[in-house]
Amino acid sequence: MAIDGRFVIALEEHYADEELAATFEGPEGRAPEIRKRLLDLGELRIGEMDEAGIDLQVLSHNSPSTQRLDAESAVRLARAANDRLAEAVKRRSDRFAGFAALPTPDPRAAADELERAVVKLGFRGAMVHGLTNGVFFDDPRFRPVMERAQALDVPIYLHPAVPHKAVIDAYYRDYVEEFPAITNAAWGFTVETATAGVRMVLSGAFDVYPDLKIILGHLGEGLPFLVWRIDMALSRPGGSPVRFREAFSRNFWITTSGNFSTPALICSMLEMGVDRILYSVDWPFVRNMPGTKWIRELQISSEDKDKILAGNARRLLKL
Ligand code: MN
Repeated sequence: MAIDGRFVIALEEHYADEELAATFEGPEGRAPEIRKRLLDLGELRIGEMDEAGIDLQVLSHNSPSTQRLDAESAVRLARAANDRLAEAVKRRSDRFAGFAALPTPDPRAAADELERAVVKLGFRGAMVHGLTNGVFFDDPRFRPVMERAQALDVPIYLHPAVPHKAVIDAYYRDYVEEFPAITNAAWGFTVETATAGVRMVLSGAFDVYPDLKIILGHLGEGLPFLVWRIDMALSRPGGSPVRFREAFSRNFWITTSGNFSTPALICSMLEMGVDRILYSVDWPFVRNMPGTKWIRELQISSEDKDKILAGNARRLLKL
């Protein structure tokens, strides 16, 4: 394991709980090679980690997890899935850690489940996928979750999901059939998750919870590239003053999941500082080896590489 002698932690690495995944996948399910990897918490997964030099995966459910369920089902299934994930992590605690699924359709229960998952099950934080039945995570109804995350000092990972139907109809409908990725990893995921990040700042959540920690994948969903312009436009007279850059560089961390671009990484390092950037693959939707090849050839300082591959994750997740 390890890449060129460096310990490697990857933290947007997905799995699927059979009972939970059955609530959002049709009878056809996913492509067989993806499905079998999502369901594997043993030999296949660890074999591919070994091959690529990944020492530790922080496991999270795949999208949309429990975010599109009714409140009662979300609470029940999140608890059951988290219990099962905790067992899998316990079996291979040398190779796995966990992010909890949160039943956000019932925000108070989601806050309680976050606490249970962190305190009782040893999870390192939680992942929330896209909108919760049409509602962005900055909505005041989710403040109990934010409050609990701050109190427990664990991050919330805001992960994409298929965009709101009204957005698909208005923005993507003309191209969905020929280019289905337009709604997801090619563009739709990015637009919606970047919007979630901007809205978190506008909502004033970080004024109320100044130590709340948010992780964005895919090198920050484009926001590091845009932070100057967003900050400038939000500072113009006429609106409420918002210090976007300040919140973005204080409350956000980003991962390299599914975005192995050196220019995009360098931009992120310049805008956020290397201490905010964590290695991730997005397995099994992205394979491990292209990430390993990228990191091996990446011309940055040895110290920065150590931070991205493991040091920053150790600090943020207390590993
Ligand atoms: Mn992902």
